[in-house]
Amino acid sequence: ALKNQGVSQATLTVAVRCRPLLQAEVDADVLPITRVVDNKMVLVLEPELPPEKTFLSERFTQSMDTRQRERRYAFDYAFDSDASNKGVYQHTVQALVPGVLKGLNGTVFAYGATGSGKTHTMVGDANDPGLMVLSMNDVFELMAKEPDQQFDVTCSYCEIYNEVIYDLLAPSSGPLDLREDPALGAVVAGLSRIRVESAERILSLLQEGNTRRKTESTDANATSSRSHAVLEVTVVRREVQGSQMGSYSGKLCMVDLAGSERASETNNRGRQLKDGAAINRSLLALANCINALGKRKKTGFVFVPFRNSKLTRLLKDGLCGNSRTAMIATVAMARSQYHHTVNTLKYADRAKEI
Ligand code: ADP
Ligand code: MG
Repeated sequence: ALKNQGVSQATLTVAVRCRPLLQAEVDADVLPITRVVDNKMVLVLEPELPPEKTFLSERFTQSMDTRQRERRYAFDYAFDSDASNKGVYQHTVQALVPGVLKGLNGTVFAYGATGSGKTHTMVGDANDPGLMVLSMNDVFELMAKEPDQQFDVTCSYCEIYNEVIYDLLAPSSGPLDLREDPALGAVVAGLSRIRVESAERILSLLQEGNTRRKTESTDANATSSRSHAVLEVTVVRREVQGSQMGSYSGKLCMVDLAGSERASETNNRGRQLKDGAAINRSLLALANCINALGKRKKTGFVFVPFRNSKLTRLLKDGLCGNSRTAMIATVAMARSQYHHTVNTLKYADRAKEI
């Protein structure tokens, strides 16, 4: 088999998306404290400023006083509250998709606090389909341009909850084992793999899968999602090579990460605290891997601790070697979200090094 042909360096695109204030926030006179400049920079006002001094007041924004009291972070791309999923897609994930049809791997993840717009960005709805759906559309469009080729598209959708993996495409999945296969890497034993014939069904599959995600009510948000949801799309291209059939296999992993808020901040107890701690461990492991990959690129070989969590074991193939990664960090604009917003932007800032 011709696996992962075509040499290219691992690359990472880091984007930030600010979601608009929800109607309920507008009704409650919630003030926005973030602003996007030049599609690259996110500005965050310090929360101790008096409430009337926000980006709503343009005159204040332009004064020296504000400049000293705002934080600025630059990214490959920053999306303001009016961006659509399509717009986000075109500047982040779209560039990864052609490689997947050529046997390369790609990874996309949405990182942010609960309620910041991760699921909206990854899954979306019929009016504004998310990155998981839009990338499937492109996979099928690209395949249609090569009618003489034989492709096989399959997908799986699982969640990692408290370091245990469950199948989101099966009605009542028990815990599944993560095994190391010498040829395939980390494989979830018994996970359903659905053959997909067209992109149309993917949104309903994802929505159905999401109803099976484990949610716990926390102080942060009544429907806070405490699990990572991982959609894995595998595209196998078969072709005749002389007298033999060869195949390339490319994998696109798209992850709707659990809320990034800290367990300590959600004021939980007992089981929920343990959930929070496990989620933290996964997110911390992911941050450490991303950081190590960045150092590796700069200084040569560095040990990358993929084995420290289920999430990083699953994502390993998609994060190193001939793979491309896009991270979309999501933030809400509300003043009450200041700490979450700054923590998310710092995390994304650290990731830029890859
Ligand atoms: P998360 O998955 O990060 O917890 P959600 O994606 O569920 O957050 O978003 C929280 C709420 O905000 C939902 O009601 C969602 O529809 C809305 N929302 C999120 N992002 C946007 C956006 N870019 N535009 C409009 N509404 C959004
Ligand atoms: Mg969500």
